[in-house]
Amino acid sequence: MTNPSNNNTEPKTSLNFLEQIITNDIAENKAGGRVHTRFPPEPNGYLHIGHAKSICLNFGLASQFNGKCNLRFDDTNPTKEEQEYVDSIKEDVRWLGFDWEEREFYASDYFDKLYEFAVFLIKKGKAYVCEMTAEEIGASRGTPAVPGKESPWRDRPVEESLDLFDRMRKGEFPDGSKVLRAKIDMGSPNMQMRDPVMYRILHARHHRTGDNWCIYPMYDWAHGQSDYLEGITHSVCTLEFEVHRPLYDWFLDELEVKNDRPRQIEFARLNLSYTVMSKRKLLGLVQEGHVAGWNDPRMPTISGLRRRGYTPASLRVFADRVGVAKRENMIEVGMLEHCVREDLNRTSARAMAVFNPVKLIIDNYPDGQVEELKGILNPENPETGTRLIPFSKTLYIEKDDFLEDPPKKFFRLFPGGEVRLKYAYIIRCDHVVKDERGAVTEIHCTYFPETKSGMQSDKKVKGTLHWVSAEHAIKSEVRLYDRLFTVPEPEDVEEGEDFRKHLNPDSLVVTTALLEPALADVWPGQRFQFERNGYYCVDPDSRQNALVFNRTLSLRDSWAKISR
Ligand code: ATP
Ligand code: MG
Repeated sequence: MTNPSNNNTEPKTSLNFLEQIITNDIAENKAGGRVHTRFPPEPNGYLHIGHAKSICLNFGLASQFNGKCNLRFDDTNPTKEEQEYVDSIKEDVRWLGFDWEEREFYASDYFDKLYEFAVFLIKKGKAYVCEMTAEEIGASRGTPAVPGKESPWRDRPVEESLDLFDRMRKGEFPDGSKVLRAKIDMGSPNMQMRDPVMYRILHARHHRTGDNWCIYPMYDWAHGQSDYLEGITHSVCTLEFEVHRPLYDWFLDELEVKNDRPRQIEFARLNLSYTVMSKRKLLGLVQEGHVAGWNDPRMPTISGLRRRGYTPASLRVFADRVGVAKRENMIEVGMLEHCVREDLNRTSARAMAVFNPVKLIIDNYPDGQVEELKGILNPENPETGTRLIPFSKTLYIEKDDFLEDPPKKFFRLFPGGEVRLKYAYIIRCDHVVKDERGAVTEIHCTYFPETKSGMQSDKKVKGTLHWVSAEHAIKSEVRLYDRLFTVPEPEDVEEGEDFRKHLNPDSLVVTTALLEPALADVWPGQRFQFERNGYYCVDPDSRQNALVFNRTLSLRDSWAKISR
């Protein structure tokens, strides 16, 4: 079992409640001291950051306790599931840094076994074929305060149910005409126990079993038994399944499973501000074209975050820092962004990029001369070395870095003022050229050769500007991404309103930037810090001579201040 290191220096202060339970179970030699978890996605969409939390938790616990973690696809609903989703899920788990080794399982692997189990329950008088429609079943379930009504088919002879179930499987009946139900208690205060449906008829092709089956197990029937069949010791799941636990226990009791029963433990799902996380809503955003696809860099999907430039290490650290809670809560997206900046600051190469260029001409620099200046690749990690940056007479700097009429304490460039050009020289602004509308088109400067970076010089300045050489710069498309929603809780809307009303109309702004020429040879996914600006990564849409960069995050980190 491999588990990537988190580079997480935070000392582990105490065990969380899951770790405590597992530690106690091992001490009591439950399941022979084994720890075996699983991550059980339904392949009906792309994974999101909430799933990442669950992946880190399940694989993390297994690794921490020398156990194993399975990847299991809960593929019981053929009409919504596709191979495309299976493939993307595997890619995402791997990218996060986890390895399920040879343990890639599918609930559909157990269809035969589940059928056998169901026959066993029918023979025991604990399950029956019911011929009510879905609507009739719904209407007869009652409410938590009002007991449900028993099905007229509830007490039909075991032989009759066995025969009908067999014929359901053989395809003799149309969709929706019959179901298999557990015979539990229509008066139970727990709605889950009111004779839940175990099988439904669905003449649909399954992405793995093809046309072998026309009855499919319900999630609740398949899930607990799959855990049991795989020898899962700790079934970690989200809080909404707490009320399902008595049902899962009932199934195992009636199947007469005495030993090696999975222990279900619930924790609060991850909720993140400024986004939505339900697959149904994310699918809606994709289908309605609010985003460019499941992996749009604004999506909270793992593939979206990857394309945005987030690192697997930062997601693992985030999952670790949010911890596990027993109650629903909302995590601020700023905390996630903080983890990403922290990692990118440590790992990303620096580069210079000018977004709103204005020409800067060094009048006393020799025409045609080009110097290759050394820039540090990453001051946080000096071993990464240096890069060469061409310097020449005509440069571009950011328009914002020059003001004709500066306020006090403006440490950038203004007429008569001096600044350092990063990795290069100190310059002084002598005069400017303007167009007919009064906009500055050229800033003319003098440079001081003795102030070359790395050389001793008495001249001191307060400001340092980034720049690119006009002749050498390469132009790139840049996609500036912002949060997808304008409010922290987009799902919090008035009756009759919809979360879409909070979509941020400016979540994507497409612009261009001039980059230092070393960036001509980059590959998709490569991440950079554009100095004084933010973190960027190369988009897969990039082509030779047609680069596309995504803004991952700006440099500003408001969370760092709050959390210190
Ligand atoms: P959604 O509600 O977004 O449609 P789901 O829970 O139905 O997602 P599954 O594919 O069933 O999606 O989820 C696989 C696993 O991921 C489950 O064990 C589930 O508990 C866990 N999971 C899903 N969402 C979150 C979340 N927000 N936080 C933590 N774990 C989650
Ligand atoms: Mg689910």
